[in-house]
Amino acid sequence: MRPTSLAARDAGLLWHPYAPLDGPAPYTVHGASGVRLDLQGPDGARYDVVDAMSSWWCMVHGYRNPVLDEALRRQIDTFSHVMFGGLTHAPAVKLAERLVDLTGGKLPHVFFADSGSVAVEVALKLAVQYQAAVGRPRRQRFLALRGGYHGDTIGAMGVCDPVDGMHSAFPGLVAEHEFLPRPPAATLVDGALVSDDAEVAAWIGVLEAVVARHEGTLAGIIMEPVLQGAGGMHIYAPACLRALRRVASEHGLLLIADEIATGFGRTGRLFATDWAGITPDILCVGKALTGGYLSLAAMLCSAEVGSAISASEFRALLHGPTFMANPLACAVADASLELLVASGWQAQVARVERGLAAALAPASSLSSVKEVSVLGATGAVQLHGPVDVPAVTRAGLEHGVWLRPFRDLVYAMPPYVSTEADVAAMGAGMVAAIAAVHG
Ligand SMILES: *Cc1c(COP(=O)(O)O)cnc(C)c1O
Repeated sequence: MRPTSLAARDAGLLWHPYAPLDGPAPYTVHGASGVRLDLQGPDGARYDVVDAMSSWWCMVHGYRNPVLDEALRRQIDTFSHVMFGGLTHAPAVKLAERLVDLTGGKLPHVFFADSGSVAVEVALKLAVQYQAAVGRPRRQRFLALRGGYHGDTIGAMGVCDPVDGMHSAFPGLVAEHEFLPRPPAATLVDGALVSDDAEVAAWIGVLEAVVARHEGTLAGIIMEPVLQGAGGMHIYAPACLRALRRVASEHGLLLIADEIATGFGRTGRLFATDWAGITPDILCVGKALTGGYLSLAAMLCSAEVGSAISASEFRALLHGPTFMANPLACAVADASLELLVASGWQAQVARVERGLAAALAPASSLSSVKEVSVLGATGAVQLHGPVDVPAVTRAGLEHGVWLRPFRDLVYAMPPYVSTEADVAAMGAGMVAAIAAVHG
């Protein structure tokens, strides 16, 4: 006889992200609408809560958004999937055109991938193919930042932080890349990111030295601009980004901006590279691309990179997933990006930023709290030690908010459609949960 609750049936059957088969029982979702989740705990308790996670930072327009629901329905009534080899369709072309327009036309070529990690794989392959195409076939490694996160597939893992990315679990599989120290921290002061000039200058010195030493083997530099997300919610100085852009150009390296977390307004700029006024050679987007509805990511590149590939031995970018440019995913992404602009994401993100700054301020006086930081629609509370994740999750639910802390961080990445009251509830729930569990 099978147990009746979903949580009990899930136990030992399903792996959850980074969790053991016999890990803590998950909460069951019965419904999701707007910014709210209807959850049930393993003990049967029911919670109607605001979602401070946007389902891992994707669900920017909220659950069951009528515009996105309608876009999907329309595409289902047309066709749900066709192969992309030899075929094309309106959702892919329209979405690609829209993405190129959002980059101001500076990155005119688009490759659709099925997830963020795959977009990173494709970006790394493209950079290596580019270097070979311009006569530098020995350049096959990358420079990455400590504290970075770029995905879980083997190629992407290689450029994640070597310690947090658990490289030691896969010796021989994960490639050996070069790493720079985490760029110096920056804080948001009156709308500007402020950091210590001397620290930034010293960091740039290290960057220049490392690139000069390894130039002959480096294909590119990969980074999350301004905000390192899953690697620890670290905000850093735009001056470091400008230096990465300059040094990459000086040494013939491609600059890869992984905006899978930061893209589409999350940091208060459309793309986080806008904080530094730079354009990467390669851009990866994902997560919020479909408004959180389906798995889709994209890689865009410059005209120069595109034409080098076209003139190369292979002429093609050597990748082609089965579900490439899935029409349902492209249709909902196109509608989501249209809605992003139509709903005025700047004002939405600014409202979330103000709300988080106000609601999280009281956390600074808790004894367990080391630092509070807010940037755009992101607010993080760093504790002095690791978070008791199950206890803070439960306390959050009891205070009306769904949280998924990690390491020493309790954070919020609210949906952009959150009202002032929603954001206040998220922030208050976070502070109350931290206070209840950690003091
Ligand atoms: C989430 C994330 C990825 C990986 O995306 P998936 O869709 O989970 O494969 C890559 N880079 C960054 C910066 C991310 O935040």
